Amino acid sequence: MKITNKTGNDFSIFESVVTDAYSILNYRANLAEIIISTEKNYGDIIAEIDENESYTNTADYTGFGKTIFDRSTKLNTVIIREEIIHSLIKKPISSLDEIKFKNQNIQFSHYLVLHELGHCIDNVDRNIHLLSVYPNSFFKVRKILNFYFLNATCEYNAEKLPKHYLSDEYIQLEITNLETSYEIMMKDFNQYKILYKNDLRNLAFSILNSFALFFIQYSRYLSLTNGTAFSNEYLDFSQKYFAVSPKNRNFDREFSNSYLSEILFRDILINLERYGFRIVELEGETDALYY
Ligand SMILES: [Zn+2]
Repeated sequence: MKITNKTGNDFSIFESVVTDAYSILNYRANLAEIIISTEKNYGDIIAEIDENESYTNTADYTGFGKTIFDRSTKLNTVIIREEIIHSLIKKPISSLDEIKFKNQNIQFSHYLVLHELGHCIDNVDRNIHLLSVYPNSFFKVRKILNFYFLNATCEYNAEKLPKHYLSDEYIQLEITNLETSYEIMMKDFNQYKILYKNDLRNLAFSILNSFALFFIQYSRYLSLTNGTAFSNEYLDFSQKYFAVSPKNRNFDREFSNSYLSEILFRDILINLERYGFRIVELEGETDALYY
């Protein structure tokens, strides 16, 4: 595994931190390279490796790490922003078991690295190919939901690694963030309505995207907690939309076999209808058309 530093800052100590503390995970992760980026060149580096890859960059969510999988060589490349590395090298660890005793900022940095390694392992295990559906594809609600569900299963699986190394308090903090995500989603709907009032196709993608971001957050937290830390409100939510019951002993298998349910599909269509969409039957499938 090689480390490529594209920041201009000295991170040579990071190499020993990674090789010591994380070495045990590398062989399962098929990790060929870690690239350290700045905030500024993060997007360019991702595009350089694969022009079809997208990354999180909205007013409310910013990506700090990204894993790109090459299905022909079965090798992963992880891109991490330098902000994360700063706190990793400030207080280096010699074993992953030390992470849960560190403060929240340091846990957050390790969490991001472990999350990306979790993606690496999942990529190798499942050989998943995620094709972007935005922005050039034909607007088909079902197709877009299928894409995002696949995305949600990737996030779900990526959390299986970090959850063993984080403190309960840290995980609780992540759950609080989920409540914020929900509020952001509801706020977004109203903003899009004003922003895209003459561009219904963009409006539809944005609403779906916002739904999906919340679902992806939600599936991460389901994984971190196996559903146990959730209030009834969230348990109902997962039963309703994912058609899974987090109390089940076979929750993992149940989740990976589930899908974004018909109920979610209808809820989104109803939202779209409010924004000027027409719901139609296309080749036996219910879909939405915009005027
Ligand atoms: Zn992820």
